[in-house]
Amino acid sequence: MSKYICLRSAVKAVFSPFARLATRLGGHYARPHDPMAKIVLTESQLLREMVAHELHSRKEVCERLQVSKPSVTRVVERLMRRGLIEEGERFNSQRRGRKTNALHVRRDLAYFLGTDLDGMALRACMLDSSLQVISSGKCTIDLRDPIEKIIGQWNTLVHDVIRMSKVPMKKIVGSGVGVSRVLATDSVKTRGFFPPGKWVDIDVAQVFKKLDLPIALFNNALCVAEYERRLGAASKARDFAAVLVRHGIGAVLFHGGAFLLSRESPNNKFGHVKVAESREKCSCGEYGCLDTFCSGRTWPDAWRRRGPEWEADLRSRARYLGIGIASLLDTLYVPLVIINGIYNEYESVVYPSLMEQIAASMAAVDQPVPKVVMSTGGEFNTSIGAALLGIDRFMDSYLRQQGLANSHR
Ligand SMILES: [Zn+2]
Repeated sequence: MSKYICLRSAVKAVFSPFARLATRLGGHYARPHDPMAKIVLTESQLLREMVAHELHSRKEVCERLQVSKPSVTRVVERLMRRGLIEEGERFNSQRRGRKTNALHVRRDLAYFLGTDLDGMALRACMLDSSLQVISSGKCTIDLRDPIEKIIGQWNTLVHDVIRMSKVPMKKIVGSGVGVSRVLATDSVKTRGFFPPGKWVDIDVAQVFKKLDLPIALFNNALCVAEYERRLGAASKARDFAAVLVRHGIGAVLFHGGAFLLSRESPNNKFGHVKVAESREKCSCGEYGCLDTFCSGRTWPDAWRRRGPEWEADLRSRARYLGIGIASLLDTLYVPLVIINGIYNEYESVVYPSLMEQIAASMAAVDQPVPKVVMSTGGEFNTSIGAALLGIDRFMDSYLRQQGLANSHR
């Protein structure tokens, strides 16, 4: 008996830090195929997974959570009796063509707020439980304004998006917040680089004051990658890179079922890889960073972004971005790269130069040319991704508060 307890506590001691880490980072970091994982399916878990990963059948739930079909069926039936899951239109299950009824979580079960800040704009959106955007808004900002004004604009935007959604506060699970710099995983502070060249701390809790909503900060590039993985161009990809070019530049790699972004370093250095010689000092204090050659921070004012001179500038910027992407893939090769941000509206000019450069750089290191996609999702991708990450972080505790924590008995 004591031997058993010893072994059990030893196993627990080894695995619990990982379990804690997985929970904190969100369900997708957990490895569902871990043979040591002992999964007792709870109602809240089933609802969270169905919402967060758009699962629509018992089979998909079994496969994703590695639980037996009878336990899924039991929990599904209980939730159907309570009206929280509905059976909808028939669809063809897998390849055998067998007709089966799709399961849906009630759209109004819970709502998720997502918002993001970059040096040029603020965005926010509200998702329902079918992950449809039901309200959204954007506000351009001027970094020359005092930080208090920007926080005020952000606060107004968040309130407006909540009001437009007509969702009662108690139905909002929480908010994911995308920022370009996360100071620490549990911190709600970020830091921005403000002209004429100083770093300023921003307390995001100020934005949400009086709202009584849990919030969590995530790197903007991770948010956009999460959007692409769950709802966008990477939904079937095993390995990919997501690149976000806005005021700053970020990229994250998804490889072997996980993001290569640790708790300890939630930011990435992609914008600050050295791509060429330059006498222009970057915000990081170095010279020759990718950021100085093609970020939104360094692009011309709107009225100058037209005409042949601008197109030549765009092509040059695209080539630098290509060098940056090739160097990222030289660290770890992935066959798919998805680009979001300020260059997507100039795709016809940017894409050929970008691909030409990537092809040349990849040939130099004897690597294949990856598939490169300019995302079609639009500029709310980051906010939507932040909301998705917020589901992982907050939905379990929200559902527990609603009395949905029962495991199967
Ligand atoms: Zn730099």
